[in-house]
Amino acid sequence: MEKYAQVIIDISQRGLDRPFSYRIPAGLQHCVRAGSIVMVPFGAGNTLRKGYVVGFADRPQVAAEKLKEIEQIVEPSRGYTMEDNSEFYLRLAAWMKNRYGSTMATAMRTVLASRKTGKAREYRQIRLLLSKEEGGKQLEIYVKKHQTARARLLRELLEVPELPWTLVTTRLHVASDAVNAMKRAGVIEVVTVQELRNPVNVSPSAQTGMELSPEQKEIVDTVVGDFDGLQAGQTSVSLIHGVTGSGKTEVYISIIREICARGRQAIMLIPEISLSFQTLMRFYSHFGDRVSVVNSSLSEAERADQWERARRGEIDVIIGPRSALFTPFSRPGVIVIDEEHERSYKNESMPKYQTVDVAEEIARMHGAVLVLGSATPSLESYWRAQQGQIRLFKLQKRLTGGTLPSVETVDMREELKQGNKSMLSRSLHAKIEDRLRRGQQSMLFINRRGFAGFVSCRNCGFVAKCPHCDVSLSLHGNGRLVCHYCGYERPAFRTCPECGSRYVVAMRAGTEKIEEYLRETFPQARILRMDADTTRRKGSYEKILSAFSSEEADILLGTQMIVKGHDFPSVTLVGILMADLSLYGNDYRSAERTFQLLTQAAGRAGRGTEAGDVVIQTYQPKHYAIRHAARQDYEGFYAEEIAYRRLLRYPPVGHMMAVQVQSEDEEAALRAANAIRMMLMETHSLSERGQIQVIGPSTGSMKKLRDLFRFVIYIKAEKYDTLIVCKDLIEKTETQGRQAASIAFRHVEIQFDFDPVNPF
Ligand code: ADP
Ligand code: ZN
Ligand code: ZN
Repeated sequence: MEKYAQVIIDISQRGLDRPFSYRIPAGLQHCVRAGSIVMVPFGAGNTLRKGYVVGFADRPQVAAEKLKEIEQIVEPSRGYTMEDNSEFYLRLAAWMKNRYGSTMATAMRTVLASRKTGKAREYRQIRLLLSKEEGGKQLEIYVKKHQTARARLLRELLEVPELPWTLVTTRLHVASDAVNAMKRAGVIEVVTVQELRNPVNVSPSAQTGMELSPEQKEIVDTVVGDFDGLQAGQTSVSLIHGVTGSGKTEVYISIIREICARGRQAIMLIPEISLSFQTLMRFYSHFGDRVSVVNSSLSEAERADQWERARRGEIDVIIGPRSALFTPFSRPGVIVIDEEHERSYKNESMPKYQTVDVAEEIARMHGAVLVLGSATPSLESYWRAQQGQIRLFKLQKRLTGGTLPSVETVDMREELKQGNKSMLSRSLHAKIEDRLRRGQQSMLFINRRGFAGFVSCRNCGFVAKCPHCDVSLSLHGNGRLVCHYCGYERPAFRTCPECGSRYVVAMRAGTEKIEEYLRETFPQARILRMDADTTRRKGSYEKILSAFSSEEADILLGTQMIVKGHDFPSVTLVGILMADLSLYGNDYRSAERTFQLLTQAAGRAGRGTEAGDVVIQTYQPKHYAIRHAARQDYEGFYAEEIAYRRLLRYPPVGHMMAVQVQSEDEEAALRAANAIRMMLMETHSLSERGQIQVIGPSTGSMKKLRDLFRFVIYIKAEKYDTLIVCKDLIEKTETQGRQAASIAFRHVEIQFDFDPVNPF
């Protein structure tokens, strides 16, 4: 009997997000299968469209004379090994569609990511031209001339004579100017090769045979033991809570090695910028050319090359950002997520997935283990560990040596009272001067994250908050204070309701202004600034880091970009300006974010042999996020934060879904948002039993973005599944609304965001 292919067309419109039947031409009968990508004629004009075969039917859903035929197959086979991975991708996409509320087409596009392969590409490699002896002499010259970037590169090349260009510029922080100068001097040559090569001839360093500490060994044994006991359809999740330098990476490497030895593959996720050259080299020395690194400096096509290698079984380990999750391995056995609390793990386009969740689902499907690591775990993961849902391991000791920095918290209200109106406290000022005198480096971090025009009193620290949602109100252009969750509004304060002062002002924190101030105050200092403005040009980010790690500057001033990853051993002072700024983000995660940022920033000081100092400037020295960060006390912070979440039923204790309704037509968007609210309120099974709380619609933090008007409804519920029910109801209402040509849903687009990370 003839079978018909059920095809989802690659158009992200909810109205078209259902399978259409197609006839399979005789020539393709044997190669079309579930998961195949095909080209099909679609619509009245029979335009050729990409589509995904999601299944088969014995009977087509349209009349025989209307039935169209598959034109061609794009990828004849996505099954690489005996496993049928096409099925796997279909199941994963369906799971994501259900959990995050996207269309099936968008979910398919996400899990298949880019599969563009094509003509051979070219990659640059840097090769040493000098002998060991000549190289050693040249190195001395560079060191003498203080050409530290060149010295750094040469030192590495004397270990590994050929290194990929991207690795040198992005991870070793040697800017291309320096590389080119060395090329002109005949120290190195730059050659072009067809394949992206790893520095495979890394000599197994002394580290390779390192013996694990008893704590590390216990983690490895337990996780590998878990793995050995798993069936497909099962997973085991572990969280390693340990500060930077406590030996987490060494644990990841050992676990990955064990599991690869059992014939499975490993996915290692890292936040984009935090992977250091040294760490990479450690992976290379363990896994040689069986490991591949993908990052955003690779083009899409170059990334596809790496995926092709994974598909062909040429590599066992992939290291990359969240999209590496979808690497087409035949059967991953372990997924590691380092710095699991990082915001970049949340995908901010549809489907708005949380990487940890998707990783867990993939691990479950394959019978793999999931390992999470962080110095400041997300509340979600720590909460699950406390509930006994996942394993918790602790690594307490710093193995890298270096003393923990001493932290001083300065109350800026006191400074004001003492007549100091400048941006720097007297203490920080004195310490910067001292470092300049001693020729040591300082980092000044301006905490701007989450900053959204909040208003506070510079005299007493009072901050205007929403009486219903306990998040900060934001100052809008019309001079009113607005809550982004519920839409509560009030006029701005003329005087502080707490102390009567007239210093109730919107905080403005410009890095540029601070740089100017520093230049005036310390004319002898060499200052680098790093923020969105100074890093816009390609390569400028690397250039700044290169200059700073080459000690070409005394002070590095910047936003959260400077607190991640990189080790600068001669930094002995970290100043945090406006530590509280991120407390007043307009969402429930503000305190968590602040704690993470301050802890990370403070951890930058004293990495070398000299002890370090940290100065935290704040208007709220007593706030628990600041107090616990100053003491580097995660548990203390967690206890207070989880109590707050419990009280207000915020995630992870409860769950929350943002429904974003947008349209070019403001009235249409509002009408649809109100219709959704009505529908939810009238669904008795939900609202009457108090299962959900509907907040809004409000206009969100930006009413109008890229010419679209946006309204947001927040729904809170005890259980995630209740929110899925709401999402399904909203989708149904929308679809029915469209079919009935209801005016409410014309020209609007609806997006869902579960447990949102970034406020709208
Ligand atoms: P993390 O990933 O937590 O920052 P790493 O695994 O990078 O920690 O370890 C920090 C440093 O300690 C590295 O230089 C590493 O080589 C070293 N190290 C890790 N484990 C051991 C061990 N068992 N014995 C000796 N040194 C170790
Ligand atoms: Zn006040
Ligand atoms: Zn509110």
